[in-house]
Amino acid sequence: MQQPTNEQFLEIAQQFGTPVYVYDANKIVSQYQKFKSAFNSPTVKIFYACKALTNINILKLLKLQGANIDCSSINEVKLAIHAGFEPQQILYTSNGIGFDEIEEAKNLGIHINIDSISNLKKFGQKFNNSYPVGVRLRPNIMAGGNIKIATGHDKSKFGIPITQIAEVVDIMQQYNLLINGVHIHTGSDIKEADVFLKGIEVLFDVIHLFPNLMYVDLGGGFKVPFEDTEEETDMITLANKILEKFNQHLHQNKLQIWFEPGKYLVSQAGYFLTKINVLKKTNNIEFASINSGFNHLLRPMFYDAYHKIVNISNPNGTIKEYDIVGNICETDTFAANRNINEINEGDLLVFYNAGAYGFEMSSNYNSRYKPAEVLIHNNQISLIRKADRFEDLLKNQIVVL
Ligand SMILES: *Cc1c(COP(=O)(O)O)cnc(C)c1O
Repeated sequence: MQQPTNEQFLEIAQQFGTPVYVYDANKIVSQYQKFKSAFNSPTVKIFYACKALTNINILKLLKLQGANIDCSSINEVKLAIHAGFEPQQILYTSNGIGFDEIEEAKNLGIHINIDSISNLKKFGQKFNNSYPVGVRLRPNIMAGGNIKIATGHDKSKFGIPITQIAEVVDIMQQYNLLINGVHIHTGSDIKEADVFLKGIEVLFDVIHLFPNLMYVDLGGGFKVPFEDTEEETDMITLANKILEKFNQHLHQNKLQIWFEPGKYLVSQAGYFLTKINVLKKTNNIEFASINSGFNHLLRPMFYDAYHKIVNISNPNGTIKEYDIVGNICETDTFAANRNINEINEGDLLVFYNAGAYGFEMSSNYNSRYKPAEVLIHNNQISLIRKADRFEDLLKNQIVVL
């Protein structure tokens, strides 16, 4: 798989300025196809967890491939509709949301996974068996790249604890609810199939309680490589193991298996292109400050995430050690003691794996502009979001003094 060339990055920097997010459509398509063909089963449905990257063009690209979409807010649902998804292709896996959003989702005719006893009860009281609904369960399994992205363990806020399943059944019976799905999402950055298999076992213990079940939703969280030594989740092995498990237990059953990959589909397709503002030599560290900060790419500071960084202005320069830092008034270290080809002021640095939770988590902190987004599609380079301008900082402010 060919990644964008240095020439393309240089052209993008020249045409649109930096910092800028760049997405390679081919990579998104190939990741989707890899996922789909690994399962190659009509009972498997893929819902793109769009909170990873919601640019309308990305949503449309995945829709064209046949993907469904998983949303984490009612606004993402509206973006999905805007991008052309049909209601039956849209899933809203909620957590901790107000009941008004669940009502709105129901009125839009989309699939809903409810994640609390409280909202399930409200749903029952209001809608009885007039609308099927799924439940998000917490399997009490620890998994994920680190604690901040682990969502299935027994201290996590996500989902209805599996230990409260009797209460779910009581509510279902009391209101005659049509529970059509059970969902788990154990976390992000999970490489090993065993975590998914454990989750399936937890679900298999309870599915007999739900006579109207149509789908088992195993969430997302598939791993992608960040460091050169890492590997992504082996989809073929994972698919074989999961399908085998379903075949063993449910041979008569026509249950659908749903997945919600986010990072797996878009992370590696994204690059964050920045420029060196200043070099600062101290007695022990050489700092290279880029024209960005955690206002644009939060993952290194929030998750201690590793992002590969390449100096495309001097690809054959001597390797030296740098701390790559940002320009906002916080300690925003992107990489410490990192070996990179010799850096000069004005050089362009490319961050890899910036497609998922990159632009999406950006902010205007320090009153800086959110960056532009560019898509490379069929060798065509297109601006798909303008960078903010000064008006954007004032847009919603009301001056009363
Ligand atoms: C964030 C999220 C996903 C996607 O996780 P990735 O690690 O990006 O694959 C899937 N399902 C739910 C419910 C999520 O919150």
